[in-house]
Parts: sequence; structure tokens; C-alpha cells
Amino acid sequence: MPLLVQKFGGTSVATPDRIREVAEQVRLRRRSGDDLVLVVSAMGTETDEMLALARSVADRRSGREMDMLITAGERKATALVCMALIDHNVPAESLTGSQAGFITDETHENARILDIRPQRVLAALQGGRVPVVAGSQGVSTSNDVTFLGRGGSDTTAVALANVIEADACELYTDVSGVFTSDPRVVPTARRIGRLSYDEILEMTATGCPKPAMRSVEVARARGVRLHVRSAFTWEAGTWIGEEDPSMEQPLVSAVTHDISEAKITITGVPDRPGIAGALFRRLADLDVNVDMIVQNVSADGVTDISFTVPRRQLGISTQVTRDLGAEIGAGGVSEDTDIARVSLIGAGMKSNPGVAATMFEKLGERSINIEMISTSAIRISCVVRSEDVVQAVNVLHDAFGLAEAS
Ligand code: ASP
Ligand code: MG
Repeated sequence: MPLLVQKFGGTSVATPDRIREVAEQVRLRRRSGDDLVLVVSAMGTETDEMLALARSVADRRSGREMDMLITAGERKATALVCMALIDHNVPAESLTGSQAGFITDETHENARILDIRPQRVLAALQGGRVPVVAGSQGVSTSNDVTFLGRGGSDTTAVALANVIEADACELYTDVSGVFTSDPRVVPTARRIGRLSYDEILEMTATGCPKPAMRSVEVARARGVRLHVRSAFTWEAGTWIGEEDPSMEQPLVSAVTHDISEAKITITGVPDRPGIAGALFRRLADLDVNVDMIVQNVSADGVTDISFTVPRRQLGISTQVTRDLGAEIGAGGVSEDTDIARVSLIGAGMKSNPGVAATMFEKLGERSINIEMISTSAIRISCVVRSEDVVQAVNVLHDAFGLAEAS
């Protein structure tokens, strides 16, 4: 019998009606012969509400207490889903992250999974009960409750699917799969039937919000097949797995965009070995996730370096850059928050020249100026003005024929 892990995101269990619908679907699915393990997120926007609550009671918030608070959302959802299942005559058993065997490190609010001991999950299955596991949580090596971070329920589901050797992991969300572009920005965006791990990783790294990037990394490392689909329509969604070498890869699978980055430029940087190393080491030590980096050709022994950072890390990044600039006698440091990045992703790019040329031409035809460029084997990203990004995404989506059925 196929064994599946099904993860239900916050919107899928947001209301009593939604929970009952999930229970009904689980009942039908089991009747058709599948064995199921459920992983659930907190209902609706409850995680955000709890974060706001915490902020309203204290300025200083201990990670340990934050995790105790936030993980309650997932625990509440598991109990309610189990009650609904039992009411639908489906035997079920709720399990906290700890009971499901998730051992993590001691980092609060963003804990890492060290080990999974899924005995209770397996025992429930063997006893004919559906295990319903609280997502995004575990117990640390010092026996404290830990939270795996935002979007961590996807990681719970994928990691659990791996250790119990499930046939696939279904990630249920409020959209019917992964799209060629954000449908809110590109009206002609359509669902992608199949993506490789590499493609979805590039997509999540460049603005596609789901599935959570960490979970995709686990899926790729462990070869867990993913199926991203909707708990509102229950129709087949997007399959994610190994690239199929027997199939021709689409030139471009998706156009993503990201407006959450900002650009820092340091000018008049002495052009000598070690400077870039010193700058980016300091940023790395502060956990700043630098994305695109451009260094100009040097003139008269000095050069400019521009790079992008997440906007929420802009303040600290600029500070560090200014400090270093002062030490090395650089010219100045400036910030630019009105940027956006648009990216093309497609496994077929590897073997087809000309994709970048077409991308740049299409942007040029619309007078969209490209400020920075970066590429990987299967991605090309351009930084443009943020006011141009909607047009840029639409133009590229059109130019690469993504609106038509593949
Ligand atoms: N409820 C948590 C969040 O919203 C964890 C999750 O849903 O994955 O981030
Ligand atoms: Mg959530």
C-alpha cells in the first residue's frame, strides 16, 4: 500500500469547516487504500497573531518562551484535526514534534533537526491510526521545546517522509501548485506539472514563496518526491523530483521576482587583494545573506562594489560596510531600496545558448534598464528598478511562451 505524508498548511485548516473537509478527504483517501501520516501547521494566521501577542507583552523575549508559545499553534491544530478525523470514523492520534521523535539542536526560533526517531508514528500506523504530527517543532538535546522556524512544517513533513520511507510527500496549500509566475502579478501564469529539485530550489531562492526552501533542500538531499497541491480543489498539482534525463527540459520553466532586497554600493574601494574577503566575511559573520555582487573594472587603483542584501538586514549591512569603508579609506557607501530582481529559471538553459540575450533584448525593448546580472547553470537574474518589475515579469513570461500549455 502506498504510504504518503500529507502536510496541511495554515489556510488548509484555518476554520472548523476546513478541518472537517480535510478529515473527509483523508477518510476517502484511506478508503482508496493509501496509508497516511498527517503533518499540520497552525490554523490560519495564528502564528503571526502569537508573534504579535508576544511583542505586546514584552520587549525582550526569550527564545525558549517564544518556542513554547508558537509551537502551541501546531499542537492545537493537531488535536482538532484528530477530533474531526475520529468524528469521520477515522482512527487518529495526535503527536507533538517531540512525541513524533524530532530531536533538534538548541537554537530557538530556528532549530535544526538532528535526528528523527519515528517509533510512535510507526506504531500508530501499525495500529491502524492516522498519526497527526504537529509541524515545525521538536525537542532539543537539552529537553526544551523548539520551533523549526517560519514555514518549518514543510520541513517536518519532508524529513518525516524520508525517515519513514514514504512514497511521496504531499504539501497542501491554498494554491493548486507551483506556477510559472506569481498569478497575482501575471494573469496568464499557469500551473507547472513537473519540476526538478534544482529548478524549484532556484525558484524558492528568487522569490517563489512555497514550498519553504529548507524543505526542498531536504527533499533533494534525500530524494523525497514532493507533490504541491491544493486543499481547496484537491486536484493534482505540481510534482517535484529528479530531473528526467529522457525528457527534453523546458528552456524556461518559470519567471520569478523578488522585491524584498536592497542594494548597497561602496565606491572608491582600493583595488587590492583581501578587501572583498574582509567585507563579505563581516557580513557573513552577521548572517547577512548576500545575493548578487558586482565589482566594477578598476580605474586609477580604485573600484566600486555593489551587492544586494535582504531589506530587513539593510541597516546592519550598511553599517558594517561603512565601518570597513572608513578603515580602508573607501569613497562612500550608498543604499538603494527601489530595486527588484527578476529571474528566469529553466533546466533547458544548460544546453541552449541565447536565453540571456533574449531576456536582455526583451527588457531593453520596454526600456527597462538592467542594473545587475547574475547567472547559474539554470537561472538568469537581473536587478531592475522596482517600478519596472511587474512589466518585466509579464514581458518575460510572454516572451518565453509560458502562458501556453507546455
Ligand atoms: N505555522 C508556522 C508558520 O506559519 C509553521 C508553518 O506553517 O510551517 O511559519
Ligand atoms: Mg503557517
